[in-house]
Amino acid sequence: MGINTHQQNLLRQLPGVDRVLEAAAQDQDFNDQPKSVLVDSCREVIEGLRKVILYDHAKITAPDLEMAAVIRSVKAAVIRRMTPNLRRTINATGIVVHTNLGRSLLGDAVVDNIRSVAARYSNLEFDLAKGVRGSRYSAVEGLLCELTGAEAALAVNNNAGAVLLCLDTVARGREVIVSRGELIEIGGSFRIPDVMTKSGACLHEVGTTNRTHLKDYEGAIGDHTGLLLKVHTSNYAIVGFTAGPTLPELVELGRRCNLPVMEDLGSGTLIDFARYGLVAEPTVQDSVKAGVDLITFSGDKLLGGPQAGLIVGRRELIEKIKVNPLTRALRLDKLTLAALESTLRLYRDEKAAVATIPTLRLLTTPREVIAGRADRLAARLKDGAPAEAEVVSLQRSSKAGGGSLPLLELPSVCIGIRVAGLSANAIEKRMRANSPPVIGRIEDDLFLMDLRTIQDDEIDLIKSAFENLLTRAPQ
Ligand SMILES: *Cc1c(COP(=O)(O)O)cnc(C)c1O
Repeated sequence: MGINTHQQNLLRQLPGVDRVLEAAAQDQDFNDQPKSVLVDSCREVIEGLRKVILYDHAKITAPDLEMAAVIRSVKAAVIRRMTPNLRRTINATGIVVHTNLGRSLLGDAVVDNIRSVAARYSNLEFDLAKGVRGSRYSAVEGLLCELTGAEAALAVNNNAGAVLLCLDTVARGREVIVSRGELIEIGGSFRIPDVMTKSGACLHEVGTTNRTHLKDYEGAIGDHTGLLLKVHTSNYAIVGFTAGPTLPELVELGRRCNLPVMEDLGSGTLIDFARYGLVAEPTVQDSVKAGVDLITFSGDKLLGGPQAGLIVGRRELIEKIKVNPLTRALRLDKLTLAALESTLRLYRDEKAAVATIPTLRLLTTPREVIAGRADRLAARLKDGAPAEAEVVSLQRSSKAGGGSLPLLELPSVCIGIRVAGLSANAIEKRMRANSPPVIGRIEDDLFLMDLRTIQDDEIDLIKSAFENLLTRAPQ
C-alpha cells in the first residue's frame, strides 16, 4: 500500500506511547488510574489514530495529533475502561420483566437481607437447633410448601435447570409424552426438545399444534413411557380453534396408568392476576391442587425474586431429585437464597407482596399513576429545552415480558422526544450511551419512553440524559 507525503508527515507527528505517558504523568486526572489501564488506553488511542492516517486520512488534520487532543482521547478511553461492564440501566421500554435488562428488581427489604447474609457468616448449611450440619435448601422448602400447598419443594439455579433436573431424575432413558403445541423455545435458545435430549429422556410428541386430546396422550402410553409433561406456553398464545385436556384430566390419566405428571409453568405466579384486572394466569397453587406431581417455575419472572428455578410437588419425587448429583451442579448460592427467602416471606400477606415486590407493583400500577409520572417527566424535559426539541405525551400499552402473559396489554403513557436535526436513531443511540444508559424504543421517528417501568427517582437522571443529548453536536 502506497502512502503519500501528507500521510507520511502525519505519521511523523503521531506521538509514541512513551511521550503520551510522560504527558499523562503531569495530568492530575490520571493520578489514581491503574497504570495498566493508562498504558492500554494510550496504545488504543495511538493505534486508532495510526489507522485513520493510513486508511481514512481525509478525516484527520495535524491539530488532531497535538498532545492536548491525544490526552483528551486517552481520558475518554480510560473512563470507558474504568466503567463497570455490568451496571445500572434505566428501563424505559415498558416491558416489566425484561430479560435483557435483568428481569425482576428486588425491593429494599430483600436487598438488605442479601447484604446481611453476604457480609457475615450465616447458618447456610448449619442446623442451629441441633448444632449439626444442615441443608441449604431448608431455608426455603418450608415456605414454598406453605405458600403453594405442596408436600415438598426444592430451589435450584434457574427454571431451565429445574426442568433438566426433573426430567433427568424421573424420565432418563424413558419416553416423555408432550403435546406438539407445547414444544416451545424460550429466549436464550432453551428449547423443550433439546433439554429433553440432554436429560436422556426421549420425546414423544402427540396431537397437533392447535389441538391435542386426552386420547392422544392415552394412545401414546406404552411400556417405555416415564412421564406426562405439560408445558405452559407462557411466551406465546395459540388462539382460535384450540383444545387440550384440563390439568385434572391429565392427572387422572397419569394416576390410572401409574405415571407421574409434570408441569413446567415457566413464569409461575403465586397470586391470581385476574383479581388485579390483568389476564388470568394459572397459579402454582392451582397446579398443586390439581394433583400435578412435579411443578417447575422461575424465581425472577412473575414471582419477582432472584434468578432461581423452583420445584414443588410430591415428596417421594422431590427426595429423589435431592440426591441426583446434578442437583449439586445446579445449586443456589447463598445470596440468591437470602433474596429468595425474603421474597417468599412477603407472599404471606398478598397485599404487602403486591405493594413491595417491584415486579408486582409495576404490573399493577394504575394508568393514572403512570400518567402523573409522565406529566412530571414531560414538564422536567420541557423546562429550559431549546426550540428544536419537542416533547409529546402518548397513550400506549406496556407488556409483562419475560415470556409471560403474551396477550396482556397494560394501558400506559409514553413520553416521546424529537429533536430537529437529529434522527430518532441518533437520539436512541445517545440516550443508550448516557451514564446511566436510558433504553427506550423508536416508533414513527420518535424516541419513546414508557413510564410504567421508570421509577420516580429516575426522572432527574432522564432529564440529565436529555440535556447531554442536546449539548452534543448534531450528527
Ligand atoms: C422462562 C421459562 C423457562 C426457563 O426459565 P429460566 O428461569 O429463565 O431458566 C422454562 N420454561 C418456560 C415455559 C419458561 O417460560
